[in-house]
Amino acid sequence: MLVDRYGRVIRHLRISVTSKCNLKCIYCHMEGELPSDDEMSVEEIARICKAFYDLGVEKVKITGGEPLLRRDIVDIVQNLPPFREISIVTNGTLLSKLSHDLKEAGLNRVNVSLDTLNETKYKLITGKNMLKNVIEGIYAACDAELFPIKLNMVVLRGINDDEVEDLLEFASKFNKDGINVILQLIEVVNMPDYYVDLSELESKFSKIAEKVIVRGLHSRRQYIFKNKAVEFVRPFHGEFCMHCTRIRVTSDGKIKPCLLRNDNLISLRGLSYDETIEAIKKAVALREPFFKNA
Ligand code: SAM
Repeated sequence: MLVDRYGRVIRHLRISVTSKCNLKCIYCHMEGELPSDDEMSVEEIARICKAFYDLGVEKVKITGGEPLLRRDIVDIVQNLPPFREISIVTNGTLLSKLSHDLKEAGLNRVNVSLDTLNETKYKLITGKNMLKNVIEGIYAACDAELFPIKLNMVVLRGINDDEVEDLLEFASKFNKDGINVILQLIEVVNMPDYYVDLSELESKFSKIAEKVIVRGLHSRRQYIFKNKAVEFVRPFHGEFCMHCTRIRVTSDGKIKPCLLRNDNLISLRGLSYDETIEAIKKAVALREPFFKNA
């Protein structure tokens, strides 16, 4: 098992497979990585993931850039070790074509970024007219039962902060026979002009919730009421870092112990399996909470 100096057990791996994207979101933090053309191969991704798996990591999330732009994304998924959960975070624009093949390859679930249901705002946020493709992608993911699907909504002041109820209503349409689609509300990082503190909204949902699930990762709360489910991701919340059980790998094969730092990366390129294990242990020893007691 991997445990850092602060007693945080590493259970989640977030691995980027490309830094390329077909959208240009105004707020994008690119998972904290610099653009790179030096993408890992299917074999490298498999070796790195196997090492994390053997060290006790339970869940992997594939991200990017836009991971579905990789032509070999189905192979990538197929070659992963049998994690308890394999998921992808995607902008959804290419999901309608790929959902079923990904499910067959072993994908368990998806997060789809959906900040708005309004075409004009979608173009304003992402630079593209692709809302229709995303909605089709969500329907295809439902058809392939990539559940639970989380709809990632980054709440932006003056742009989409009036749409939370609409998005919640949209998500609940898929929840007739249980919670299949969860709305995930995310506080924007590094964009003070758009920042919305979600504490008030979270407190409102906590009062009407019939059930509250506190997740191990970041101590995130999920509130369930009727056929609706909403989860909060608040990186500036004090518990976020102290309960961070996640480690990242960039698309060019470097371990990134913290989303918010770039000065302690460790390369896994060209290493044997044993060397990969040693490098991962070294990276875990470097981990420390970015906000220690915010
Ligand atoms: N292209 C994929 C997508 O759109 O989901 C995967 C990469 S994207 C960087 C992963 C997630 O990070 C998305 O849900 C996105 O909304 C979120 N994200 C990006 N920049 C952010 C920021 N500045 N603050 C909070 N979340 C952000």
